[in-house]
Order: sequence, then C-alpha cells, then structure tokens
Amino acid sequence: MSDISSQNIMYLPGVGPRKAEVLKKEIEVVSWEDLIYYFPYKYVDRSRVFKIAEIDGNMPYIQLKGRIQGYEVLGEGRAKRIRARFYDDSGSIELVWFKAIKSIPNQYKIGQEYILFGKPSLFAGKINVAHPELELEAGFFNGEVGVQGQYNTSERMKDAFLHSRAIQKMIKTIFGNFQGKLSESLNIEIIEKAHVIDLDTALRNIHFPQSPMLLRNAQFRLKFEELFYLQLNILRVAKYRNQRLGGFIFDKVGDYFNNFYSQNLPFELTGAQKRVVKEIRQDMNTGRQMNRLLQGDVGSGKTLVALMSMLIAMDNGFQVALMAPTEILAKQHYETIMQFVQGLGIEVQLLTGSVKKKVRSQLLPSLQEGTIQMLIGTHALIEDSVVFNNLGLVVIDEQHRFGVAQRARLWKKNNLPPHILVMTATPIPRTLAMTLYGDLDVSVIDELPPGRKPIKTKHVYSAKRNNLYDSVRKQVQEGRQVYIVYPLIDESATMDYKNLTAGFEQTKEIFPEYEVCMVHGKMKPAEKEAEMQKFVAHQAHIMLATTVIEVGVNVPNASVMIIESAERFGLSQLHQLRGRVGRGADQSFCILLTAYELSENTRKRIAIMCETNDGFLIAEEDLKLRGPGDIDGTQQSGVAFDLKIANLAKDGQIVSLARELALEVLEEDSNLAMPKNYILNNQLIKKNRNKQMGWFMIS
Ligand code: ADP
Ligand code: MG
Repeated sequence: MSDISSQNIMYLPGVGPRKAEVLKKEIEVVSWEDLIYYFPYKYVDRSRVFKIAEIDGNMPYIQLKGRIQGYEVLGEGRAKRIRARFYDDSGSIELVWFKAIKSIPNQYKIGQEYILFGKPSLFAGKINVAHPELELEAGFFNGEVGVQGQYNTSERMKDAFLHSRAIQKMIKTIFGNFQGKLSESLNIEIIEKAHVIDLDTALRNIHFPQSPMLLRNAQFRLKFEELFYLQLNILRVAKYRNQRLGGFIFDKVGDYFNNFYSQNLPFELTGAQKRVVKEIRQDMNTGRQMNRLLQGDVGSGKTLVALMSMLIAMDNGFQVALMAPTEILAKQHYETIMQFVQGLGIEVQLLTGSVKKKVRSQLLPSLQEGTIQMLIGTHALIEDSVVFNNLGLVVIDEQHRFGVAQRARLWKKNNLPPHILVMTATPIPRTLAMTLYGDLDVSVIDELPPGRKPIKTKHVYSAKRNNLYDSVRKQVQEGRQVYIVYPLIDESATMDYKNLTAGFEQTKEIFPEYEVCMVHGKMKPAEKEAEMQKFVAHQAHIMLATTVIEVGVNVPNASVMIIESAERFGLSQLHQLRGRVGRGADQSFCILLTAYELSENTRKRIAIMCETNDGFLIAEEDLKLRGPGDIDGTQQSGVAFDLKIANLAKDGQIVSLARELALEVLEEDSNLAMPKNYILNNQLIKKNRNKQMGWFMIS
C-alpha cells in the first residue's frame, strides 16, 4: 500500500491548488492521510426523504426531494440575499443563500430534480432552509444513502464548495484508490489486549459505516488509539525522567521541622495532612526528582503541607522557593509563612514584579550566596536573573496557571533538578488528571480541618434580593464580613465595570452604617492592595470584587459570599469563589443571585452548587456539563496532541484502559526498543513531530 501521508491533497481529482489552500488554512489538511483523519462530527440517517408537508421548523437536518421554481434577489449590502422557492407534490418552502449570490442560479437549475439536505427553520411564520446542500436526484441513490457522516466546514470552505458532502466524496475517492489495506498503527499485542478492530476497517467505517455496530467499533478503536499514544507519551516522559535524572536525597528531619512541629504548629494536623506529608517525605528521599501534584479542596490546608515539605528541604541544607500565580497570593503566602516560622531562624524573602530595583539588587546576591533560604514570589522567580545557590524544592501554587513548559524552566536552575510540588485547589477528575498531569504523582488531601461547618448555599432570584439584606446585616452585626462578587468574564467589558461601580454605590446606600471596599482587575496594584488590606484588617465590612479574589485571599472572618449574576460563572469557578468563606469556625453562607430565565444547563449548575460542597464531585459534574476543552488551563497545561475523536469528559473508561496498556508496554520495554514496539515508537515520533512539545528535550 502506498503511503497516504505523502500524497498531497492537491492532486486528488477535483481538488486543485485553490481548494487545497483552503483545506490547509481552515482544517490543516495537506495530505490524503490528514483528510482520512478528518472525522465526521456527527452522523445522520440519509435513508429517509421527507415530504415538504411533513416538516416543521424544529426538525434537525432532513432530506427533501423537489425542484426549484425561481430565484429572487432581495435586500441591499450586507442584507443582500438570494431566495428560491423549492417544491414537491405536497407543498413548497423557501431556500436562502447569503453568499455566492451570483453563482447560485447557475449552479442549481430551475426545474431540475434535486435531493436537498439541510436544517429547516421558522422565519416570519414560514419554513425556510438556509444554505442547503443540493444534489442532482439522478444518481444520488447510487451513492451512500444510509447513516452518513457530517463534516464540520467553515464559511470559507463552503465558499470554495467544500461542504460536508464534498469532503465525503473526496474521502471516498481516496479509499477508492487502494484496494489493499491501510497500514496498521498499533501492534498485534495491543490490538488483542484492547479488543479493537484493525485500523483499515476502523477508518473506512468511521467515514462510511456499514452498520451501527461497525461504527461503534470504529469509534472505539480510534478513540483508544488516540488516548493510548497520549498516555504512552506522557508515561514515557515520566519514565525517562525517572531513569535519567537523579534527585537530591533529603534523608534528614532536623531542627526546623521538629521545632516547628513541637512549638509553632498551632493545631493538630488532619489525618490526610499527615499522610500526605509522609508521602512527600518518602518521595524526596529516593534519589530521583519528585514531581508531585498536591490536590486538595479550598481550605484543606495545603499551604501547611507545603511549608512542612520546605522545612525538610531546609533541614537538609537546601534553599526552597514558593511560586504563586498572583502578587496578592504571593504576598499572602509570605505573611502566613512568616508567622508560622517565627522564631525558627529562617531567612525568608518575597520577590514579585513590583519589588523595587534597589531591594531586588540586594536580594539577588544573597540568594546566590545562599543566605536567603526561602524565596516566595510570582513568575518573577523563574526569570534568568534569579539564581539560587542550591535550590532543593520548588512549590508551585495553583498549577493550572503555570504550563508544563514553565515547570520545566525551573529545572534549569540547578545541575540536579529541584524536587517539585504542585498544589492545586481545582480538583481535577481522575481521567483528566491522568492526561493533564499524567507525568506527576498525586497526593490528595481529602479531609477538611475539624470544626468547619459546611457552607450553606442558596439560590435567590435577583429580583427578590431585598429579602436578603436583613440577614446580611445580621451577619455583619455579629462581627462577620461579606464578599459580593461580580462577574467579569472579559477584562475589557466596560459593561461589567459599570455594573460593579453601580453595585458599589448601591451597597453603600443599603448599608450606610458599614464600610464598603472594592477591588477589580483594572486597579493599580497598590490601589488594589490597599483596598484588600482594608478588608483583611476588618476596617471594611463588605468587599465588592470581581473574580480577582478567586485565588487565595484568606479572611477567616468572612462568612457570607454573595455572587451576582451567578449564571455567568462556570461550576468550578463558583466553587472556587465559595471557598473564600467557610474558613473560620462560624456557619458560612453562599448566595447565588440569578435572573429568572435560566437555561437548563445553568439550572443544573446552580442546583449542584446548592446540593454539595464536595469539590471533586463538582469537578466531575463540571467536566460533564462543559467538556474538557473549557476546563481552566487545559490549553496551557498542554495535552500533547490534539484529540480528534476522544472526549476526556465522556471516554473516561477508555482513558483508563489506554493508560493501563501503555504502562504495561513501558514496564516491559521502557525505551520501546523491542522489535514488536518499533511501530509504537514510530507513531510516537510521528505524532510528536507535528506538535513541538519538546517534552523529550527537557533535562
Ligand atoms: P488551602 O491552601 O488548601 O486552601 P490553607 O492552607 O490556606 O488551605 O488552610 C486554610 C486554613 O485552615 C488556614 O487558615 C490554615 O491555617 C488552617 N488549617 C490548616 N490546617 C489545619 C488543621 N489541621 N487544623 C486546623 N486548621 C488548619
Ligand atoms: Mg491556598
């Protein structure tokens, strides 16, 4: 069989340079193989042809058989369109095109019999179909007529007559070109263990299903393959690192840790915290680099675990760094940690973008000499000018804002890479974690410190907000503080700032006896800091904010979180926001304000929030409702290859199977050097060539 990856799509009959250009630009299709891997996004049953009298404006894509009666050009400028009447023996409908207006009448002749494929909709009381696909009736039923794939096409593709049906024909031509089989991309062993069908059958059936069962098998095979190589890649990087890269051995537990534990620790650790500290200690004592993800719901006490890990590193004579995604959070960590380590004789410094040059120029040499033992900061820590003496451990808070590549940069700060502990408060469903953080070991804090009362969450319609203010006032009278959060989805949306500012004035009117402060992303850092400080110091009772408060602020005295226009937030984001309260011993409340009219999906999100405080459950639901592409940081964290067919939200079981089998392969042959694994190795190289992730380069 010829190699379809080297056949240019331009030379496929009926394509040519112009269409080839569009295919390349719009869907990155250059070779025949690329097009074969351009899968349908859905399937429709094209065996049924409706009568016009049978259809209404709510139907999905349907087929009709009929003729065009005449054309009429309407409107001016952008509203210009061409309309046709399409009829059969039961009635007639309108067809409309907003593009290619001149060429349509030449393309589709009056009086000819066509098979129409399109989505009917209701406009001004009449049924019409916009931009239908029309094909001559004669010969149509010699083609594929059963369950058929529908391909995504852009406007530019449609302009170049590359609509779904055209794509389908091109693929048919490619398949028609070989009688043999497309070469296999998995080895026999994997095919048998995974119980998947061969690649040739899968590819042919994904485009032209011969039966529903074969379609299902084809989907399973192709999803499995995609996920298998994804896992193989991730796990291989992890193995490679384990083999090649040594790590510092922290075998001592010394004064810093012991004194902290016996003198400074103000409370008993939770069982989960103890377990996780032990896991981390063991991991930093193996002679290999630790790469560990620390997951725990908001308020579960991750900071403390991070601190104890850092104390161990310092007990072994090493420097440590703690990196946070924002200045506010870095500063808060700095203050919290300074309190915790009081009297232990540890030299701690803060380094963020706003640290003055003068301070910086004193700080950097001490860091290089090793007199600074702990450096806390933002991205500023990974700048080249920041040189450590002997960096032994890096803690990264809120991982989803740091990409894999940034993590890798930290390794370059030493000959031996420092141990890495990544903390995230965004619980990630298992299957997604396996993919996004598949190269990390995972520790989970699945227990909250004792005495916390679960936050009570309530849904209130915005129009009924007046009933709310009495209970808010009561809380403030009892000495509690209140957050009111406004949505700010788009940093430049002036509308949102207007709402926030109006809300500020309104809140001051409603609560004239209390101090109200406000923070948002457009403020200067110093201004923001000052407002935030008012709240932390309890000079302000109520704080209005945009989502800038989402990460990190810790004011245990705050017991009420009111979220305005809650329908505009995603589930995970709502949960993160809610986590700002419920940090003290008092009963806390979260109020979700929304409009009356809500989509079904939004109602579900609100209901889930009212039902549970469990971050993992919420993350699972979020994944189901939104799909993984929308989950924070999926892009930055870098799924190594694009997923064309597998869906991390829905194909969890296939992810697990793929991971299991990828592990088995690497267990036996970690370099993929055995002859039977050549094929796997070649596929990996090929897939990595397109995406320059450079994971293999990291060292
Ligand atoms: P996270 O970073 O996981 O959101 P933090 O580390 O900020 O949580 O902890 C939240 C609050 O709980 C802090 O005020 C912290 O001091 C406190 N805390 C942590 N561990 C315990 C514990 N074992 N017992 C009581 N309080 C704790
Ligand atoms: Mg935290």
